[in-house]
Amino acid sequence: PGLQRLVVVSNRLPVALKKVDDAWAVKQGAGGLVTAMAPVLKNRGGAWIGWAGASSDPDMDVDGLLSDFCSDAGYDLATVPLTKQEVDDYYFGFSNEIIWPLFHDLQTRCRFHPRYWRAYLDVNFKFAEVVARKSTPDDYIWVQDYHLMHQAFFLKSMGVKRNTGFFLHIPFPPPDIFMKLPWRWKVIQALTEYDLVGFQTVQDRRNFMGCLQRLMPEAKAEGRGAVVTVTVGNRRFRLGAFPISIDYNQFSGLAKRPEVAQQAFDVKEALRHRKIILGVDRLDYTKGIPERIQSFHTLLRRYPDMVGKVNFIQIAVPSREEVDEYKELRQEIEQLVGRVNGEFSFPGWVPVHYHYRSLPHEELVAYYSAADIGLVTPLRDGMNLVAKEYCACNNSGSGVLVLSEFAGAAAQLQKHAYLVNPYDMEGIAKALHRALHWGRDERKASMLKLREQVRKNNIFWWVDSFLQAGISKKLDDFPEI
Ligand code: UDP
Repeated sequence: PGLQRLVVVSNRLPVALKKVDDAWAVKQGAGGLVTAMAPVLKNRGGAWIGWAGASSDPDMDVDGLLSDFCSDAGYDLATVPLTKQEVDDYYFGFSNEIIWPLFHDLQTRCRFHPRYWRAYLDVNFKFAEVVARKSTPDDYIWVQDYHLMHQAFFLKSMGVKRNTGFFLHIPFPPPDIFMKLPWRWKVIQALTEYDLVGFQTVQDRRNFMGCLQRLMPEAKAEGRGAVVTVTVGNRRFRLGAFPISIDYNQFSGLAKRPEVAQQAFDVKEALRHRKIILGVDRLDYTKGIPERIQSFHTLLRRYPDMVGKVNFIQIAVPSREEVDEYKELRQEIEQLVGRVNGEFSFPGWVPVHYHYRSLPHEELVAYYSAADIGLVTPLRDGMNLVAKEYCACNNSGSGVLVLSEFAGAAAQLQKHAYLVNPYDMEGIAKALHRALHWGRDERKASMLKLREQVRKNNIFWWVDSFLQAGISKKLDDFPEI
């Protein structure tokens, strides 16, 4: 028998529309997830199911373009069409105004609108119908992320039997926070319908188990290690921790290329070879960007020896720009940057360099390799790939990673990164001052260990570990009791 086919389900399809010689074409997206999944999909055969995004051109033949892509890529793409209202209520509403802030412990930013919940269920049902139609009972269904927690639930309600796995890319909150969700019981119950639920860290898995036991006190977990088995009522399923990662060789290799190394040198030279502290984030309120700028401000105020000696570069990638909260955050950040630069600049030195745009991949890698300190301070983050990318690009081994203890990445990197509390601005300033004075040997020893960790546990390892846990033990191995 051949390998079991894989069906990946995510909110967005992993493709982008590009204009090539005046004609539109569908190209594979650039993210790590699709880079790692594409070879597996090609090898096993399978499909990716998701929303294609809003089309700017009503005459565009999206389905035709997708089918051209499929015959080249060696796997199928299937779209789930969504109306504007559905996108507003299920995506911007339920997913991004309820689950995103709540699961990042920022409950005051939640808008628990009942309309959002109904749209979330309707859209999940729509997705599940496509999954049922595009898959067979022998396929493995792997659902990605918080937009689609109800896939296994709806498949079962349709009488469709599949081996299903779910991976949550964002944190899972502790019970005191999760219990605020008006639909807490239904969400937890839906997650128990999967055969495997994967989290970024063991802590997320524990939080989930804590919530499950509050809502379903009979739930029991057995086993230790990365994957445990849970029994609740007549259901058995598994929970695991699978920290997501990056294509290490791709980042490290790109940083070694002469033209990228030249770009990195140009960045340093433009800043007259002063020390560089780098922050790279989507502009999102979970990333702790205002606190980070204030920490840098504190560094300059507290440690006069730093004035004129160091630059802070913040790359903020535009995200959810049409949402008011994101507009306000952008304004706040720009004011803070202005304040630091207003107070400290002198001819020939501007302390904060702020870029509000997304960078071409090579330029991003050049910044990573030019930076003396990677400053990654989210208030809360499922993993944070920027932290791992910074290490992978640091081929010279002379950089220091200063990392929030509330990023999922800290669970793997805590021993050799400089851990900070992202709310503690004086603590971060102190950490930066110390890190800037670390000796070369000390920095090299730590960076070597960080790189080793990221190289071994890369994105391909992540895909393999999840699939091994999900596919190796089929539903039949867990008789209903
Ligand atoms: N990134 C990007 N364009 C840029 C800068 C960064 O696409 O101009 C990428 C970066 O390489 C990383 C991702 O954005 O892979 C951010 O992932 P992370 O896990 O750090 O945070 P998320 O945005 O998923 O919350």
